[in-house]
Amino acid sequence: MLTTTKTMRAAVITAPGQLETRELPLPEAGPGQVRIKVVATGVCGTDLHLLRGHFHAVLPLVPGHEIAGIIDQVGPGVRGFKEGDPVALDPVVSCGSCHYCQKGLRQHCEHYQALGVTTAGGFAEYVVAPATNAYTVGPLPLEVAAFAEPLGCVAWGILRLRPEPASKALLFGAGPIGLLLLQALLASGASSVTVVDPISERLELARSLGANRTLQTSPEVIPQLRDLEPYGFDIVSEATGRTEVVQEMPNLTARGGKMLIFGVSPEEASVSFSPYQIYHHDLTVVGSFSLNATVPMALEWLSSKRVQVESLITHRLPIEGLHQALDYKNHPGMAGAQKVLIKPDLL
Ligand SMILES: [Zn+2]
Ligand SMILES: [Zn+2]
Repeated sequence: MLTTTKTMRAAVITAPGQLETRELPLPEAGPGQVRIKVVATGVCGTDLHLLRGHFHAVLPLVPGHEIAGIIDQVGPGVRGFKEGDPVALDPVVSCGSCHYCQKGLRQHCEHYQALGVTTAGGFAEYVVAPATNAYTVGPLPLEVAAFAEPLGCVAWGILRLRPEPASKALLFGAGPIGLLLLQALLASGASSVTVVDPISERLELARSLGANRTLQTSPEVIPQLRDLEPYGFDIVSEATGRTEVVQEMPNLTARGGKMLIFGVSPEEASVSFSPYQIYHHDLTVVGSFSLNATVPMALEWLSSKRVQVESLITHRLPIEGLHQALDYKNHPGMAGAQKVLIKPDLL
């Protein structure tokens, strides 16, 4: 007897550095799961790390963790969702019962799984996820809803940082994450944000999204920042992952101020601070990893337009375009790229 198995197109990392578009079996929603027809999945620096075999990538892998789409199959036992619901996905799949989950830090789950990082993700026509990871997005366009994950990470950073009202903030990095962080800071108490980036087009975009001052990276930028704010900035944040930036942060932070280390530095990198300076200037150093139940916060910022993302979407590519999208990630500023969305319906 002849059976026809349904298939779908997906981008697959088959080995470090090897990316292919393949036909894979169409996944079925199991108990407690939903299947999503992907409308838009954002490309992120993490995808480039995964392609290089970092982050303990288990290959073969369908990457893509910034996913929005429409529920097209509801598994047994799922409540609260139906076919046709537009949703954004939180990619973090946590066990709920380990040490960290029980402390409310589910992104540190000892049995951590994440869609598009350890299990099949959104650079595919369809993806299956626990229903508990899906969030209905109402009338929000799904291209905008695809920002729920990166903005959820930014929201976690804001919850960790707890900006005080009328803070003067400094931000290094005006890539897609920096531009989300800029807007989140302004929505969370910062009275002004000064943005530093090497690329002038990005600084222009930062100004259009509310940056009060922008400076282009140069050998003189640190003394320029000291001249601008002789008492320092109440908040100094970075979305660059560059050690030469992090190294300077304590010297630019006002007494009593806070530093947010948001970018992903190489694991083996280190910087040296004066502990005396941290002590004597009452400085707070804040780290922020991934997202933690912050998708609703992100969706609220997006729905209320307190955070605008339309101008960050510079490219829409089909699944086959993931190669090109990762090339843009590898060369910041290339083709003016900010956020690239993979849209499986494009051919
Ligand atoms: Zn990401
Ligand atoms: Zn856990």
